[in-house]
Amino acid sequence: MVSFEIVRGDITRFPAEVIVNAANRYLEHGGGVAYAIAKAAAGNAREYIRISKEAMREQLGKESIEHGEVVVTPAMRLERHGIRYVIHTVGPYCGGVWDNDRREKLKKAILGALKKADELGVGSIAFPAISAGIYGCPLEEVVRTFKETVEEFSKEAESVERVYLVLYSERDYRAAKKAFDFE
Ligand code: ADP
Repeated sequence: MVSFEIVRGDITRFPAEVIVNAANRYLEHGGGVAYAIAKAAAGNAREYIRISKEAMREQLGKESIEHGEVVVTPAMRLERHGIRYVIHTVGPYCGGVWDNDRREKLKKAILGALKKADELGVGSIAFPAISAGIYGCPLEEVVRTFKETVEEFSKEAESVERVYLVLYSERDYRAAKKAFDFE
């Protein structure tokens, strides 16, 4: 069984073996949670961008990722919190609009990271609210999609046992909890 829990916190110091980055296609880590992770991991964001792009070339042989594709980078300074890897995934851009296509893209982004975590043989993985920030997808729909996707994944999970959705602000945490409990 895979457990799914909504928690409040800063993902850059959340003690899961894997943390997921809500990245853009080019792994530029210019703002939001991506910048926070890059800065916390490498000390300066530019260095982590360089490492991420190199990892993308090595792992996928290209310069950008699609929804569902992921790149793994080392945790570096985040290791002090028990984090072993960062998995970069890219969610859909919504700009306030939600539809089935966006739901499918978000599902792919979440599932890609979950499967990669299984491949890495880890037990725990923490996600930020992918696409619910700069990409403007409704938080309630993002939470709902997380719940559905983790349920689907739990049928095939091998090593992953605990999945966390980490909300940064108290307001988002409350809204996410509400959406989750309502389901
Ligand atoms: P996206 O472009 O996919 O929307 P963002 O980085 O803008 O990604 O936001 C995704 C979510 O991550 C937002 O809800 C934002 O509040 C949250 N976030 C920002 N910093 C952190 C952090 N340090 N830990 C956890 N979540 C964070």
